Amino acid sequence: MKIKEILNRGKITVSCELFPPKQSGDIPQVQEVVHEIAALRPDFMSVTYGAGGGTSQNTVAIAAEVQRCGVPALAHLTCVSSTQEQIVAMLDRLKENRIENILALRGDIPKDADAAVLPRYRYASELIREIRRRGDFCIGAACYPEGHVECGRKSDDIDYLKQKVDSGCDFLTTQMFFDNNILYNFLYRILSKGIRVPVVAGIMPVTNSKQIKRICALSGTTLPPRFRAIVDRFADNPQAMKQAGIAYATEQIIDLISNGVNFIHIYTMNKPDIAAKIMDNLSEIIR
Ligand code: FAD
Repeated sequence: MKIKEILNRGKITVSCELFPPKQSGDIPQVQEVVHEIAALRPDFMSVTYGAGGGTSQNTVAIAAEVQRCGVPALAHLTCVSSTQEQIVAMLDRLKENRIENILALRGDIPKDADAAVLPRYRYASELIREIRRRGDFCIGAACYPEGHVECGRKSDDIDYLKQKVDSGCDFLTTQMFFDNNILYNFLYRILSKGIRVPVVAGIMPVTNSKQIKRICALSGTTLPPRFRAIVDRFADNPQAMKQAGIAYATEQIIDLISNGVNFIHIYTMNKPDIAAKIMDNLSEIIR
């Protein structure tokens, strides 16, 4: 089923994210994770794509497993390190596996990339146009409530986002954020630029203090004082950090839904127990 149809129902949706294994030999373990998260009946499950496309075959294998569990799959696809032939071959593989939803991404520019050699696809908007030409896919794209880390001005980032949507994107998923006011402000700003596709809010339950400091340094995500206090207080107590991280994510989601943001994507990252706790905390709200 196409994700745009699920979002167009106008009901609250909760989706989850997984990453594929680096080694094909580890596919059975990740398939087990797929089954456990699928049993929670999320509205869809997304499967990331390794930077540079190294685990691309595993993305398809895991996305196909998601669909065998009766849950629509959203396969991520990055383009900056790919040739046109590789992208077309990947689209053919997705079609063969009946995967009709793609999150179209540029991907991070590799550190060792030769600046003199222009990649075949410089921006996600070019990939979106390629996918549109090649089949009847439902296409999502990434957006950044705090601005993409490479873009100097937030207003430019939103102008480029509008180009991306106009290239044929059906919905957007946000990068994680920990202050809902940042999202509300962003939604207002994109609406005023004429961006009207559904926006799925990406929520990261932080259960490990080291992980969050690294991710925030790379992505430029702001840590509000209330969240920083949790990390400072519980950094040395993994079980307490996990409990507090789940509670924070749950509160964030309840506030979003209370304010009319109905589409929630949880960066569950192959942790079914965390997905299960959050779903349980929301059971009456998302019923
Ligand atoms: P783009 O939309 O192409 O934007 C990249 C930069 O270029 C931005 O600064 C933008 O402002 C600028 N720009 C865009 N168009 C133009 C233009 N016409 N002229 C000048 N500048 C322009 N990475 C992975 O490797 N695998 C994944 O599975 C993955 N999943 C993700 C899922 C989500 C929800 C998000 C938010 C990110 C994900 N990423 C993933 C990370 C993503 O690949 C990086 O953030 C990457 O640096 C940007 O990708 P993009 O598709 O947003 O790029």
